[in-house]
Amino acid sequence: MHKAPSHIAVLTSGGDAPGMNAAIRAVVRSAVYYEKKVTGVYNGYEGLIDGNYEELNSRSVKYILNQGGTFLKSARSQRFRTTEGRKEAYSKMSAAGIDALIVIGGDGSFTGAKIFSEEYNVQIIGVPGTIDNDLYGTDFTIGYDTASNTAIECIDKIRDTASSHDRLFLVEVMGRDSGFIALRSAIASGALEVIMPENNLTFDQLYQAIEKAGKNKKFSNIIVVAEGNKLGNIFEIADHLKTKFSHLDIKVTILGHLQRGGSPTVFDRVLASKLGVAAVEGLLIGRSNVMAGIMNNQVIYTPFEEAITRRAYINPELIRINKILTI
Ligand code: ATP
Repeated sequence: MHKAPSHIAVLTSGGDAPGMNAAIRAVVRSAVYYEKKVTGVYNGYEGLIDGNYEELNSRSVKYILNQGGTFLKSARSQRFRTTEGRKEAYSKMSAAGIDALIVIGGDGSFTGAKIFSEEYNVQIIGVPGTIDNDLYGTDFTIGYDTASNTAIECIDKIRDTASSHDRLFLVEVMGRDSGFIALRSAIASGALEVIMPENNLTFDQLYQAIEKAGKNKKFSNIIVVAEGNKLGNIFEIADHLKTKFSHLDIKVTILGHLQRGGSPTVFDRVLASKLGVAAVEGLLIGRSNVMAGIMNNQVIYTPFEEAITRRAYINPELIRINKILTI
């Protein structure tokens, strides 16, 4: 256990996610509330190494709650992967009097945080900020809800053109190696099928679903494809389908980085606010080397080791529901 810190730094790292700003705001305001000095680090671990710091106060974070992205900027830092880079980071933050760190990011960021925390006994708490929802130790990560909402807004629009022309659309959504965004947006948009890492769908099953849709007189269809699915690249999947169903008009849309942007939903703003406060309060009670998360409406602190290595499982009930509703 660490003693309560006096000077907390906060940074955002890895892929940006809507709601990161709300989390920074919550960290800064709760640090101020508990009368701690608080510093923002620009450009993730790159800024930690370079000493790119700015002292923040409660006014520094006004009007950011509703903004996508992260005003502290995010980065992928090769230097932080090296012992020299981390040594420099430790020396810069110590010189600035920073004695605790809050890292808002995904599993890569927490891997770096864990190594750094163990190497230099730095007190660090992580806040899960990634659209992928792929972290063990929290039911939801910051940005996932907004990204899913963006995905279904786009799919709804694609649905309009799909139905006007009786087309079959394959729509690729993000999620790295997980199908969280894919499954949720498939259910919420009434997609015919979802191809994601967790369901190991085969081409035969896909063909059957499309044939069944034809028999049921479903002439326009959406298939949601998770970027990390194991069946193949979306264009290759489309080619297979075009060969099998030459009479169908098959199109591909990749939503890409659209899903990273936009104003966070109410859900993400509230989640980010809760987790930002939980991170500061965790530091105050001496916690370190853990990620703050929310499971079953309770704040919990999960060791980085577990958050990184254990898999966040998709609720099988959602897969079951999706099967029923695509009939
Ligand atoms: P997202 O899930 O949105 O991509 P992430 O946090 O997983 O976010 P990464 O690019 O994997 O994003 O990691 C962010 C940064 O964390 C890396 O650029 C690097 O600086 C640091 N990092 C990752 N892995 C390590 C490691 N093994 N050792 C030291 N630092 C690391």
